[in-house]
Amino acid sequence: MDVNKCICCGKDIESALSSVDVWESPSDALIFSVLGTYGSSFYDSIMEPEGTRIEILVCDECLNKNKDKIRKMKYTRKTIAEEVEYE
Ligand SMILES: [Zn+2]
Repeated sequence: MDVNKCICCGKDIESALSSVDVWESPSDALIFSVLGTYGSSFYDSIMEPEGTRIEILVCDECLNKNKDKIRKMKYTRKTIAEEVEYE
């Protein structure tokens, strides 16, 4: 499995700290974690044990190349099921 690689370019992602796993603190990358959404044919957590998520790593270089496709939003409440405020 190539889970410690950027899902876009395939570059190896290292941990930012030697004392923690890459999935806790990746260097020059972000972790994206999702429960899945209704309508996806790839993943919907409704068929999984409660709280099961899928996660991916995306390196900062790929994020910078695609920043025009990134939506930034501010959650106004603690749960994702409630309303969000879009920028
Ligand atoms: Zn990348």
